[in-house]
Amino acid sequence: MSRIVVSPEWCKGCELCVSVCPKDCLEHSDALNRYGVYPIRMRAGAECIGCSQCAVMCPDAAIEVYRTAKESNATRHGDCPDLRGAASDNEIVPFAGREPAKHEEALA
Ligand code: SF4
Ligand code: SF4
Repeated sequence: MSRIVVSPEWCKGCELCVSVCPKDCLEHSDALNRYGVYPIRMRAGAECIGCSQCAVMCPDAAIEVYRTAKESNATRHGDCPDLRGAASDNEIVPFAGREPAKHEEALA
């Protein structure tokens, strides 16, 4: 199962990601961020397919997409160097977007 992580302090609430998600996975959260907007989050029970359209669309690179190593390798057509350290096909690995940890570094 794929999933996304939104860095709430990077989101400006523009809803571009919401408009492109083919599975209607995204909604506004109920807590304001530093911009005074309600950042995007994944809906409870959402069935994210890891298509990455939300991350590609986001102008602020606020979304990180994770897929299983097996799914990511299948999409990348072979043995991706990024995934050689994965412990198993079912390990969740970054697929698209910036890593949230890098966001935190930039904000520090
Ligand atoms: S990766 Fe695709 S399915 Fe998942 S939340 Fe983003 S746009 Fe929706
Ligand atoms: S596209 Fe990016 S900035 Fe706009 S609402 Fe979605 S996550 Fe927030």
